[in-house]
Amino acid sequence: METIFVKGLFRNSRILVGEHLNQLSGYLPEANVFIITDANVHRIYSADFPDYPVYVMHPGEQSKTTDSAVAICQWLMEQGAGRDAFLLGIGGGMVCDMTGFVASVYMRGIPFAYVATSLLAQVDASIGGKTGVNLDGYKNLIGTFNQPLFVLCDTTMLTSLPETELRNGLAEAVKHTLIADKRMFFKLIEKAEAILDLNENLLEKLVSHSIKVKADIVCKDEVEQGERRKLNLGHTWGHAVEKIDRVPHGQAVSIGLVFAAALSEQKGLLSMAEKEQIEKLLVMLGLPVSTSTDPALIMDALTRDKKKEADFIHFVLIDGIGKVRVEPIPLSEIKTFALGR
Ligand SMILES: [Zn+2]
Repeated sequence: METIFVKGLFRNSRILVGEHLNQLSGYLPEANVFIITDANVHRIYSADFPDYPVYVMHPGEQSKTTDSAVAICQWLMEQGAGRDAFLLGIGGGMVCDMTGFVASVYMRGIPFAYVATSLLAQVDASIGGKTGVNLDGYKNLIGTFNQPLFVLCDTTMLTSLPETELRNGLAEAVKHTLIADKRMFFKLIEKAEAILDLNENLLEKLVSHSIKVKADIVCKDEVEQGERRKLNLGHTWGHAVEKIDRVPHGQAVSIGLVFAAALSEQKGLLSMAEKEQIEKLLVMLGLPVSTSTDPALIMDALTRDKKKEADFIHFVLIDGIGKVRVEPIPLSEIKTFALGR
């Protein structure tokens, strides 16, 4: 077990990597704990939940709405939850985002924590103190910056994940290695197969390395000015692909990472060999590296997404594996590159 600290604006957070679900009670207050989870997690793990009232959500991103948030607040009221209540989310990114959001607004804010059950939640969604719900198809349009008291990452829970879910998380983990962990990048190439076979020791190492990269950036810049932009690596192109192709987030990020690598190579920041290694690793992990969709369509989605900014975007380039830099790049340049690939 390893503890990683994240410094927040209002509260510090502890990430417990490799701690087990059955040890959870030791971290919780003695009373007034309320649990939020989804039906999938509940079906597999409810027997191991501590003995507190549980609200079970319908699984999936489409449940992350203001309506669900209001329904949970009403449930908390019915349960008699007051200012001294403690909210615990047990689930993936959706459950964590929802729990953090409700805890931020219920009675003007109550303390909360997560048990992150998916790889995506362990290495990404649960870390960084962002909470939110979607509105009219816009992701996390309503949300807050707020740190959970702790995040428990039990890597043995990853064995119950569907394989696509595991790969989704791996895309973000690869992103973190490209940002700041060259050694882990090459370790992943070496051990890709064992990771996909859910080798517990390796998974724990991967999760803790990944969290450290993100925690380090978040500590420097919790509310997203400069440093935090680095975490958008692969997401500019990736989000546009996600919108058009309607593929899972991790798959879109994988395609976005390859796009960022190609642009970085064109700009002379990344060697051809490094670019190929990035593609190779993603393929080894069973992630897509391209889409057959017309790049003009993806470019349209990207431009629409950025309409409120100027004619350029802050693009995250890979400055050699393990290092990135954020540069303003004109949309016209990205378009020329995308259509000419
Ligand atoms: Zn992402």
